[in-house]
Amino acid sequence: MADIAERNEENMNVELICVGTELLLGSIVNTNAAYLAEKCAGLGLSCYFQTVVGDNEERLSQVLKTAMGRSDIVILSGGLGPTEDDLTKETAAKVCGRELKLHEPSRQAIEAFFAERGMTPTDNNWKQAVLPEGALVLVNHNGTAPGVILETESAKLILLPGPPGELQPMFEESVVPYLAALTSQVICSQTVKVCGIGESKAETMVKDLIDGQTNPTIATYAKTGEVHIRVTANAGDRKTAMKLIKPMVKELKNRFGNNIYTTEEDTTLEKAVADLALANGLTITCAESCTGGMLSARLVNVPGISEVYKTGVVTYANKAKRRLLGVKKSTLQKYGAVSEKTAEEMAKGAAVMFKADVAVAVTGIAGPEGGTADKPVGLVYIACHVKGKTTVREYRFSGNRYKIRESAVSAALALMRECILVYYSKVTFGKGE
Ligand code: ATP
Repeated sequence: MADIAERNEENMNVELICVGTELLLGSIVNTNAAYLAEKCAGLGLSCYFQTVVGDNEERLSQVLKTAMGRSDIVILSGGLGPTEDDLTKETAAKVCGRELKLHEPSRQAIEAFFAERGMTPTDNNWKQAVLPEGALVLVNHNGTAPGVILETESAKLILLPGPPGELQPMFEESVVPYLAALTSQVICSQTVKVCGIGESKAETMVKDLIDGQTNPTIATYAKTGEVHIRVTANAGDRKTAMKLIKPMVKELKNRFGNNIYTTEEDTTLEKAVADLALANGLTITCAESCTGGMLSARLVNVPGISEVYKTGVVTYANKAKRRLLGVKKSTLQKYGAVSEKTAEEMAKGAAVMFKADVAVAVTGIAGPEGGTADKPVGLVYIACHVKGKTTVREYRFSGNRYKIRESAVSAALALMRECILVYYSKVTFGKGE
């Protein structure tokens, strides 16, 4: 086993241990593992092992000893709560030979947390303020369990609370700076976010770059209806790292053209659409069938959307499509509710009824029932009406009912973005299509 100094000179590696019997039973999905792995990769840390272990001291201790023997950094999630079966901290302290002691600032933080909410802590809440000797304490602004860092000869242990709403802000606020300070190298990354191109196509388009990567590295991450390409470089300082990233991002811009909707970390697809509408002084509306309001909900995620989004409707039944959007009875009879023509009339109708500059309509078969040979589950038509012109696209999505609806929402946002760019900014598409 290499010692810390030796290992630091190489690329540091990290290992994840997610603690919880609920995870083993499949009662909850291990989203912490996905979150932590992605974040660590973004920081340039190699992750070779991930383990899920139940709330059992003996097995956790075994897993922890193995991890400490082979990894520089071990991140644990879960089991920091107040109950008897929360034993991550106790087990880690035992494995590292540390005593547990009351940590006064954490006790006060717990007291304040309950006082602010007009609640009284139960006896076992104070257990969360009892921490291993010599630990670095990470403040929890969203719950009562503090995080803990234990530095030992063999590895650094980072203990984080299980609820994602507590783990993620703690990771961003305290763990990222801690990990960055461990190495003399600065790791920077930039994400190029692409829409309107499928994952396999996007991967093929960057395969040569991935094959030949050194510094910066590039990695693709498939999201529903989007692909994110992260470019990561390490260097002695931030400026040099960003200099390494720049030409790669430029190359990606050449390859993906206008299908790139942002290179900003915080910009989502719905925000990109909202920003475009705002920049062009446009109002937007949605007429939804199979997505049942999910598209409107995505748009309403964006703060300040009220400037551009005024009305949206869910027209699930044929009657609603006729009454609220003016879809013709003959269209529904001849082509059916899930058809190019119906999508087109829905979009046109919404633009007129709600006096919007841009109207998008979604109609499809989300399943699991309702599919036929001609119109299978996953068939979705999306129409976008802009400046008197309606663009209608046919999509064939796969997955369960939720996945199909989610994919339709992303595709609708991508189509809105494309139509606004084409008709208002005279931009052309096609590079990646
Ligand atoms: P608490 O202080 O709330 O008890 P904890 O640190 O003890 O937190 P756990 O009791 O292990 O954490 O888990 C609490 C909740 O956090 C779980 O019921 C689950 O909702 C969520 N959670 C725990 N681990 C994970 C995980 N790996 N991925 C996603 N969610 C998780």
